Amino acid sequence: MQIAIDGPAGSGKTSVARALAKRFGCLLVNTGAMYRAVALGLFQGLNFSEISIEVRPDERILLNGQDVTEQLYTPQMDELASQVAARPEVREFLIAQQRALARDRDVVMEGRDIGSVVLPNADVKLYLDASVEERARRRCRERPHQPYADVLAQMRARDARDGVGFGRLQITPETIVIRTEGRTLEDVIAEAVRAVESALQKRGASGKLSE
Ligand code: C5P
Repeated sequence: MQIAIDGPAGSGKTSVARALAKRFGCLLVNTGAMYRAVALGLFQGLNFSEISIEVRPDERILLNGQDVTEQLYTPQMDELASQVAARPEVREFLIAQQRALARDRDVVMEGRDIGSVVLPNADVKLYLDASVEERARRRCRERPHQPYADVLAQMRARDARDGVGFGRLQITPETIVIRTEGRTLEDVIAEAVRAVESALQKRGASGKLSE
Protein backbone atom coordinates (compact mmCIF):
# COMPACT_ATOMS: atom_id res chain seq x y z
CA MET A 1 0.00 0.00 0.00
CA GLN A 2 1.17 3.49 -0.83
CA ILE A 3 -0.22 6.49 1.03
CA ALA A 4 0.84 9.90 -0.32
CA ILE A 5 0.53 13.01 1.84
CA ASP A 6 1.29 16.43 0.40
CA GLY A 7 0.83 19.99 1.58
CA PRO A 8 2.68 23.19 2.36
CA ALA A 9 5.07 23.77 5.27
CA GLY A 10 3.37 23.60 8.65
CA SER A 11 0.20 21.92 7.38
CA GLY A 12 0.58 19.01 9.82
CA LYS A 13 1.78 16.43 7.29
CA THR A 14 4.41 14.87 9.53
CA SER A 15 2.09 14.31 12.50
CA VAL A 16 -0.62 12.84 10.30
CA ALA A 17 1.87 10.72 8.34
CA ARG A 18 3.34 9.36 11.57
CA ALA A 19 -0.08 8.43 12.92
CA LEU A 20 -1.07 6.69 9.66
CA ALA A 21 2.23 4.81 9.42
CA LYS A 22 1.75 3.48 12.94
CA ARG A 23 -1.89 2.60 12.45
CA PHE A 24 -1.46 0.81 9.10
CA GLY A 25 2.00 -0.67 9.72
CA CYS A 26 3.80 1.27 6.97
CA LEU A 27 7.28 2.71 6.67
CA LEU A 28 7.17 6.49 7.13
CA VAL A 29 9.20 8.40 4.56
CA ASN A 30 9.56 12.12 5.25
CA THR A 31 10.87 13.42 1.92
CA GLY A 32 11.35 16.96 3.26
CA ALA A 33 13.96 15.54 5.64
CA MET A 34 15.79 14.08 2.63
CA TYR A 35 15.95 17.53 0.95
CA ARG A 36 17.11 18.97 4.25
CA ALA A 37 19.89 16.38 4.55
CA VAL A 38 21.15 17.16 1.02
CA ALA A 39 21.09 20.88 1.91
CA LEU A 40 23.12 20.16 5.06
CA GLY A 41 25.66 18.16 3.07
CA LEU A 42 26.14 20.97 0.56
CA PHE A 43 26.32 23.49 3.42
CA GLN A 44 29.08 21.39 5.00
CA GLY A 45 31.04 21.72 1.77
CA LEU A 46 30.41 18.31 0.23
CA ASN A 47 29.96 18.02 -3.52
CA PHE A 48 26.56 16.80 -4.57
CA SER A 49 28.11 13.63 -6.08
CA GLU A 50 29.62 12.75 -2.68
CA ILE A 51 26.29 12.83 -0.85
CA SER A 52 24.40 9.72 0.18
CA ILE A 53 21.20 9.81 2.24
CA GLU A 54 19.63 7.00 4.24
CA VAL A 55 16.13 7.03 5.71
CA ARG A 56 15.77 4.70 8.67
CA PRO A 57 12.52 3.10 9.84
CA ASP A 58 12.83 5.00 13.15
CA GLU A 59 12.74 8.31 11.16
CA ARG A 60 16.46 8.98 11.67
CA ILE A 61 18.20 10.44 8.62
CA LEU A 62 21.80 9.56 7.84
CA LEU A 63 24.05 11.76 5.71
CA ASN A 64 27.02 9.72 4.50
CA GLY A 65 26.44 7.30 7.36
CA GLN A 66 26.12 9.95 10.09
CA ASP A 67 22.90 10.62 11.96
CA VAL A 68 22.11 14.29 11.23
CA THR A 69 18.42 14.28 12.23
CA GLU A 70 18.86 16.86 15.00
CA GLN A 71 20.56 19.34 12.66
CA LEU A 72 17.84 19.46 10.02
CA TYR A 73 15.13 21.58 11.67
CA THR A 74 16.56 25.10 11.97
CA PRO A 75 15.46 28.31 10.17
CA GLN A 76 18.67 28.11 8.12
CA MET A 77 17.92 24.57 6.95
CA ASP A 78 14.29 25.53 6.19
CA GLU A 79 15.67 28.12 3.80
CA LEU A 80 18.54 26.10 2.33
CA ALA A 81 16.43 22.98 1.76
CA SER A 82 13.86 25.00 -0.12
CA GLN A 83 16.62 26.49 -2.32
CA VAL A 84 18.30 23.15 -2.92
CA ALA A 85 14.94 21.56 -3.82
CA ALA A 86 14.75 23.87 -6.84
CA ARG A 87 17.76 22.10 -8.42
CA PRO A 88 16.61 19.49 -10.97
CA GLU A 89 19.57 17.15 -10.32
CA VAL A 90 18.75 17.07 -6.60
CA ARG A 91 15.10 16.23 -7.29
CA GLU A 92 16.02 13.52 -9.78
CA PHE A 93 18.39 11.92 -7.27
CA LEU A 94 15.93 11.99 -4.37
CA ILE A 95 12.83 11.02 -6.36
CA ALA A 96 14.62 7.87 -7.60
CA GLN A 97 15.49 7.01 -4.00
CA GLN A 98 11.94 7.70 -2.80
CA ARG A 99 10.45 5.43 -5.47
CA ALA A 100 12.93 2.70 -4.56
CA LEU A 101 11.88 2.95 -0.90
CA ALA A 102 8.23 2.43 -1.90
CA ARG A 103 8.89 -0.42 -4.32
CA ASP A 104 8.63 -3.49 -2.12
CA ARG A 105 6.95 -2.26 1.01
CA ASP A 106 3.97 -0.40 2.39
CA VAL A 107 4.76 3.28 2.82
CA VAL A 108 3.32 6.53 4.01
CA MET A 109 5.30 9.15 2.12
CA GLU A 110 4.94 12.84 2.81
CA GLY A 111 6.20 15.87 0.90
CA ARG A 112 5.14 18.29 -1.82
CA ASP A 113 5.09 16.18 -5.00
CA ILE A 114 4.33 12.68 -3.77
CA GLY A 115 0.85 12.22 -5.24
CA SER A 116 1.66 14.17 -8.41
CA VAL A 117 5.17 12.97 -9.28
CA VAL A 118 6.83 10.46 -6.95
CA LEU A 119 3.97 7.96 -6.49
CA PRO A 120 1.32 8.84 -9.08
CA ASN A 121 -0.36 5.43 -8.55
CA ALA A 122 -0.58 5.74 -4.76
CA ASP A 123 -3.62 4.00 -3.23
CA VAL A 124 -4.58 7.06 -1.21
CA LYS A 125 -3.57 10.66 -1.83
CA LEU A 126 -4.14 13.26 0.84
CA TYR A 127 -3.44 16.98 0.71
CA LEU A 128 -3.37 18.87 4.00
CA ASP A 129 -3.91 22.59 3.98
CA ALA A 130 -4.34 25.60 6.27
CA SER A 131 -3.87 29.35 5.92
CA VAL A 132 -0.32 30.68 6.05
CA GLU A 133 -1.15 32.53 9.30
CA GLU A 134 -2.31 29.35 11.00
CA ARG A 135 0.73 27.43 9.77
CA ALA A 136 3.06 30.17 11.04
CA ARG A 137 1.34 30.08 14.45
CA ARG A 138 1.91 26.31 14.62
CA ARG A 139 5.57 26.72 13.68
CA CYS A 140 5.94 29.33 16.45
CA ARG A 141 4.63 26.84 18.98
CA GLU A 142 7.33 24.38 17.87
CA ARG A 143 10.05 27.06 17.90
CA PRO A 144 8.92 29.61 20.52
CA HIS A 145 12.15 31.66 20.39
CA GLN A 146 11.31 32.98 16.89
CA PRO A 147 9.03 36.04 16.55
CA TYR A 148 5.72 35.39 14.78
CA ALA A 149 6.27 38.15 12.18
CA ASP A 150 9.59 36.59 11.10
CA VAL A 151 8.13 33.09 10.91
CA LEU A 152 5.17 34.37 8.87
CA ALA A 153 7.46 36.18 6.41
CA GLN A 154 9.69 33.10 6.03
CA MET A 155 6.67 30.86 5.57
CA ARG A 156 5.28 33.12 2.82
CA ALA A 157 8.65 33.15 1.02
CA ARG A 158 8.89 29.37 1.29
CA ASP A 159 5.33 28.88 0.02
CA ALA A 160 6.13 31.01 -3.01
CA ARG A 161 9.26 29.01 -3.81
CA ASP A 162 7.86 25.55 -2.97
CA GLY A 163 4.82 26.12 -5.16
CA VAL A 164 6.82 26.73 -8.30
CA GLY A 165 7.59 23.95 -10.77
CA PHE A 166 8.37 20.22 -10.65
CA GLY A 167 4.73 19.28 -10.07
CA ARG A 168 4.91 20.40 -6.47
CA LEU A 169 1.79 21.23 -4.47
CA GLN A 170 -0.43 20.15 -7.34
CA ILE A 171 -3.72 18.64 -6.28
CA THR A 172 -4.59 15.81 -8.67
CA PRO A 173 -8.31 15.03 -9.20
CA GLU A 174 -8.26 11.89 -7.02
CA THR A 175 -6.59 13.67 -4.09
CA ILE A 176 -8.58 14.12 -0.88
CA VAL A 177 -8.05 17.63 0.48
CA ILE A 178 -8.20 17.95 4.26
CA ARG A 179 -8.52 21.48 5.64
CA THR A 180 -6.83 21.57 9.02
CA GLU A 181 -7.61 25.18 9.99
CA GLY A 182 -8.88 25.47 13.54
CA ARG A 183 -9.10 21.70 13.99
CA THR A 184 -7.37 19.49 16.50
CA LEU A 185 -4.72 17.09 15.30
CA GLU A 186 -6.84 14.17 16.58
CA ASP A 187 -9.75 15.30 14.42
CA VAL A 188 -7.56 15.62 11.33
CA ILE A 189 -5.95 12.22 11.95
CA ALA A 190 -9.41 10.66 12.33
CA GLU A 191 -10.43 12.03 8.93
CA ALA A 192 -7.19 10.78 7.35
CA VAL A 193 -7.72 7.31 8.88
CA ARG A 194 -11.27 7.20 7.47
CA ALA A 195 -9.94 8.12 4.01
CA VAL A 196 -7.38 5.31 4.12
CA GLU A 197 -9.91 2.77 5.46
CA SER A 198 -12.34 3.63 2.73
CA ALA A 199 -9.61 3.15 0.10
CA LEU A 200 -8.71 -0.21 1.67
CA GLN A 201 -12.36 -1.28 1.59
CA LYS A 202 -12.53 -0.43 -2.10
CA ARG A 203 -9.40 -2.47 -2.61
CA GLY A 204 -11.04 -5.34 -0.75
CA ALA A 205 -14.00 -5.09 -3.13
CA SER A 206 -12.00 -4.89 -6.31
CA GLY A 207 -8.96 -6.86 -5.12
CA LYS A 208 -6.65 -4.15 -6.32
CA LEU A 209 -6.25 -0.42 -6.13
CA SER A 210 -2.83 0.05 -7.62
CA GLU A 211 -0.06 -2.30 -8.54
O1 C5P B 1 8.60 19.31 4.48
P1 C5P B 1 9.81 20.15 4.81
O2 C5P B 1 9.45 21.54 5.25
O3 C5P B 1 10.72 19.48 5.78
O4 C5P B 1 10.61 20.28 3.43
C1 C5P B 1 11.77 21.06 3.32
C2 C5P B 1 11.84 21.63 1.91
O5 C5P B 1 12.08 20.57 0.98
C3 C5P B 1 10.55 22.29 1.42
O6 C5P B 1 10.52 23.66 1.75
C4 C5P B 1 10.58 22.07 -0.08
O7 C5P B 1 11.30 23.09 -0.72
C5 C5P B 1 11.39 20.80 -0.23
N1 C5P B 1 10.57 19.64 -0.58
C6 C5P B 1 10.25 19.42 -1.90
N2 C5P B 1 9.60 18.28 -2.26
C7 C5P B 1 9.25 17.37 -1.34
C8 C5P B 1 9.54 17.59 0.02
C9 C5P B 1 10.19 18.74 0.38
O8 C5P B 1 10.55 20.26 -2.76
N3 C5P B 1 8.65 16.23 -1.72
